[in-house]
Amino acid sequence: MKAFSYHMPTRVVLGKGSAAKLGQYIQGERVLIVCDPFLYQSGAAQKLGAGLEGRVVEYFHEIEPNPSCQSVDAAAAAARALGAQTVVGLGGGSSMDVSKIVACLAGSQGSIYDYYSGGARTLEPRTVDLICIPTTAGTGSEVTNVGVFTDQMKGIKLPFVSDRFWPDTALLDPELTDSLPPAITASTGMDAFCHAIEAYWNKESQPICDALAVEAMGLILANIKRAYDDGADQEARGNMQLASLLAGMAFSQTRTTGIHAVSFPLTTEYGASHGTACSVTLPAFIRISGEGAREKMERLCAALGYAGIEELAAGVESLMVSMDMPVRLSQLGVREDALEHIAQVGLGAAIIQLTPAVMDQGTVTALLRSIL
Ligand code: NAD
Repeated sequence: MKAFSYHMPTRVVLGKGSAAKLGQYIQGERVLIVCDPFLYQSGAAQKLGAGLEGRVVEYFHEIEPNPSCQSVDAAAAAARALGAQTVVGLGGGSSMDVSKIVACLAGSQGSIYDYYSGGARTLEPRTVDLICIPTTAGTGSEVTNVGVFTDQMKGIKLPFVSDRFWPDTALLDPELTDSLPPAITASTGMDAFCHAIEAYWNKESQPICDALAVEAMGLILANIKRAYDDGADQEARGNMQLASLLAGMAFSQTRTTGIHAVSFPLTTEYGASHGTACSVTLPAFIRISGEGAREKMERLCAALGYAGIEELAAGVESLMVSMDMPVRLSQLGVREDALEHIAQVGLGAAIIQLTPAVMDQGTVTALLRSIL
């Protein structure tokens, strides 16, 4: 067996009502809650803050999907002005990712551009505590050392990996996902499926991640349509949140692969949500995964109740169609003459080479053409 190591230092607390226990995990008196406008306008952020009696709580609630470097710097300025001792990221991956770097920048005068997108500095040790509370199921960002940011000046979206980004605590309360509308339940849930399968077929895969990933995929296949059809189905919501967590723990070690690499231009240039941009190529990547991981993929198919790789790809595709998700690139507005360019941008992300198939200009363009 290939040697491996597994390191995920975040304390995980999961269960109904766990968000109300936030105060038990907070360090210091001054707390900045980072979230998006929906979570502020719905009152979810203030409900969380109201439970922190005796502490000074402020909110930065301007986080947009696919968060920009400008938002990061604005949130970091708010954390400095408050003298935050704990930063809480409440939301989907966008808010949690921003909270990770804000907790790092809060203790310095720097900008994200000093460290990312051409910046040469390395993040100093983090002095501010970091707690992530997911409200989608989801990105798994609460248990990864990754933040994904968009440099609007360059028009690129790229992951930023740093061991400073492991949250101290991840609080998972399934009730926070009850308000997700069906379309976001579907797209974020299929993002979690992509994390799991990309960890599993990854060239850097390892037994602990495989076990987490297989469990996550089984939970998603059994629960995503239930959560989509009935957002109040507590069992399905809880299982989706658990699946997202397990998938995050799996890809936190392996990274993702071609699906995520190609998703970046589909988001920045076509405006597709992250989960949609990933899952639209999922069936096509499943179909080519046998090239480098046939025996392993056949074991996965058997574990998930499919006769083979083609049956799994077709099953995932019809599940997506049943949730009104796009399964062709043309549904996102992509035209034939853009395929070479999308492939080229995807090939610029190093993770694409972790895919268990030859990834070059010709093969990636052909894959994209097969789902145009
Ligand atoms: P998101 O955070 O961008 O949120 C998407 C939408 O869902 C927003 O409009 C938000 O208001 C809404 N929303 C969130 N929670 C809600 C709730 N409970 N009820 C109703 N609406 C709610 O979405 P996401 O898919 O969770 O995150 C995507 C981002 O995370 C992307 O930038 C992606 O690249 C990144 N990501 C990061 C990691 C990581 O490990 N750090 C992993 C995967 C993806």
